[in-house]
Amino acid sequence: MAMTEADIKAVVETAVKAVMAHAAELTALDQAIGDGDHGINMNRGFEAVLGELDAISAKPLPAALNAIGMQLVMSIGGASGPLYGTLFMALGKALPESSSLADLPAAFGAAIEALKARGKSDAGAKTMLDVLIPVQQALAAGSSLAELKVVAAEAAQATIPMQATRGRASFLGERSIGHMDPGARSSQILIEALCDAAEARA
Ligand code: ADP
Ligand code: MG
Repeated sequence: MAMTEADIKAVVETAVKAVMAHAAELTALDQAIGDGDHGINMNRGFEAVLGELDAISAKPLPAALNAIGMQLVMSIGGASGPLYGTLFMALGKALPESSSLADLPAAFGAAIEALKARGKSDAGAKTMLDVLIPVQQALAAGSSLAELKVVAAEAAQATIPMQATRGRASFLGERSIGHMDPGARSSQILIEALCDAAEARA
C-alpha cells in the first residue's frame, strides 16, 4: 500500500462523494425497515470526515483510519456511528505502521471482529456485516477489485430476503423481509468507492 497523503485524500474524497450521492437512497431504505435516518447519519458522518480531511490525510494510514473512525463516532447519532467508527478505528489499530497491501485482509478481518463485538452481531442478522464479511473473505482469497465490487453488490442484494435479528429492523420481525438492509447498502457503497479509488490510483 504505502499510501501517500495524496492517496489518502483521494480515497476519502471518493468515499465521501459516494455516500453523499446515495444519501437519499439510504434514507429511503431506512424508512422501509428503520427510522429513516441512515442517509442523514452517513452524510453527517462523512461530512465531518471531509471537514478534517487535511489533518486526517497528513497522518500515517493507521492514525488516519483511527481519526476517521473517531469523527464518525462523534458525529453520527445512530447505531451506525459507533459501528462504522469501530470498524475504521479497529482497522487503523490492526494495520502495521508501514503497511502493505498484504496486511489488508487480516486487518480488515480484525476490524470486522471488533464490529461484531461492538454490535453483538454476526453474519445473517441482516446488517452491514452481511456485506463486509463476504467482501473480507473475497479479499483474503485474492479477488480482484472488480470481483470485490460484484461480491459487495450481490451481498447487499442477498439481505433482501433476510429477517433482521439485530438493530431497529429486528423490531419488525418478519416484516423486515423483502427490503435491502440500509447498512448493508452503505457498506456496499463504501466498498465500491474504495475499489474505484484504488483502480483510479493504480
Ligand atoms: P439507527 O438504527 O440507530 O437508526 P442507522 O439507521 O444509521 O442507525 O443504521 C442502521 C444500520 O446499522 C442497519 O441497517 C444495520 O446495517 C446496522 N446495524 C444496526 N444494528 C447493528 C448491529 N448490532 N450490528 C451490526 N450492524 C448493525
Ligand atoms: Mg436509522
